[in-house]
Amino acid sequence: MADVTMDKIVSLSRRRGFVFPSSEIYGGMGSTYDYGHYGVLTKNNIRSLWFQAMVQERDDIVALDSAIILNPRVWEASGHVGGFTDPLVDCRTCKLRFRADQIDQASCGRRPSKHPGETPDCDLTEARQFNLMFKTQVGALEDESSTAYLRPETAQGIFVNFKNVLQLARRKPPFGIAQVGKSFRNEITPGNFLFRVREFEQMEMEFFVPPADAERWYRYWVDERFNWYLKYGLRESMLRKREHSADERSHYSSGTTDIEYLYPIGWSELEGVANRGDFDLTQHTQHSGTKLEFVGDDTERYTPYVIEPAVSIERIFVAMLVDAYDEEIVAERDRTVLRLHPAIAPVKAAILPLIPRNAEMVEKARGLHDELRKQHMVEYDDGGQIGRRYRRQDEIGTPFAFTIDDQTLEDDTVTVRDRDSLAQERLPIGGVRAWLEEALDKPWRTPKA
Ligand code: ATP
Repeated sequence: MADVTMDKIVSLSRRRGFVFPSSEIYGGMGSTYDYGHYGVLTKNNIRSLWFQAMVQERDDIVALDSAIILNPRVWEASGHVGGFTDPLVDCRTCKLRFRADQIDQASCGRRPSKHPGETPDCDLTEARQFNLMFKTQVGALEDESSTAYLRPETAQGIFVNFKNVLQLARRKPPFGIAQVGKSFRNEITPGNFLFRVREFEQMEMEFFVPPADAERWYRYWVDERFNWYLKYGLRESMLRKREHSADERSHYSSGTTDIEYLYPIGWSELEGVANRGDFDLTQHTQHSGTKLEFVGDDTERYTPYVIEPAVSIERIFVAMLVDAYDEEIVAERDRTVLRLHPAIAPVKAAILPLIPRNAEMVEKARGLHDELRKQHMVEYDDGGQIGRRYRRQDEIGTPFAFTIDDQTLEDDTVTVRDRDSLAQERLPIGGVRAWLEEALDKPWRTPKA
């Protein structure tokens, strides 16, 4: 099995057009990335599978899409203006800035490498709090009153719409509101490819429950989210649940569990699940003057507790690529293959005429492509030798390839090649659509397990 490094993932992502450094022709924009065709398709799959599990297949969760720029008072109430900070120290000598809580992992650029503060020349300032929210101005005036923020999380957009959903969607706890959208954080030490970026797409769900049931629902959501990763093919040996100790948790949280993945940088947070108590709704009630509570029939009246599973598409994307990446030698040649779950794979099947100069093969292949593309993202490829075309599809993780060859012209059958086992079988061309449907529906386990 391949030794998977972040460099290999970055290089494959770039080579095959999943992800590019942003604004590259201007020298890039530190730790910011653009997604190419296959990256967009993969992200779309991750997003829609999350949405399917969180909204489509449930009766108790509804969707929301709130604005990125909210009334700045939202961020005062949420505690982000006052407390969404990292402690920073500056070095007066080398003029670099470091996170005070990560000094022992930082390097100050000297050769041989040193940690900040390690040499007599180092001249570090006291730690100061640095707010991670991006500030902007709204409207023509540039003064205090026009300061606004790009949201650092999508959750607050959900809390401020609690009353709307309660009344208009006629919900009562337990119920949830799910939202997917861009969040922005001015991270001081971004890096490790997409793992920590300044602009990322969050998928968050706030689940409102009667306070007495909060603990049970918290455990439920930790398990649900953990199992979602197993369902989409991540190896169980690469995943773990890590419960925060009391001194690591936010002051309002009575339980937080990180679902961690063994990234090439070590065990790190993939998704967080927190029991946030009634902190958010209480804060917004106090700051806005609008009561955010549940009033039931009879005398029932309470502020619901909130359970929050929160993750970014970026962290899932990296975990999926790392888990899928494999190298092997087949017929004395290196093969790089992404063993992605078929539902995550950007392209579901390739349609390949064996001899691109043969007009009849091309016509049949085009016909099959036209039929399949109505249902699935499939790709027609007639560029180059068949072996090279297979390798290209392996590198983007396409689970199946249908090849139109001499025999197809005689008996209307095609070859289907399996990405992982490399097994080939013949099918009638008229049955390909149904075969693919069934193959994509089957439970899938990675051969790397
Ligand atoms: P970390 O400790 O890694 O900075 P966090 O605890 O601040 O993360 P949360 O505020 O709980 O993260 O955000 C919820 C989720 O959003 C995280 O589990 C992660 O999946 C994602 N996320 C947070 N910050 C980033 C980032 N800078 N880049 C990519 N994804 C992020």
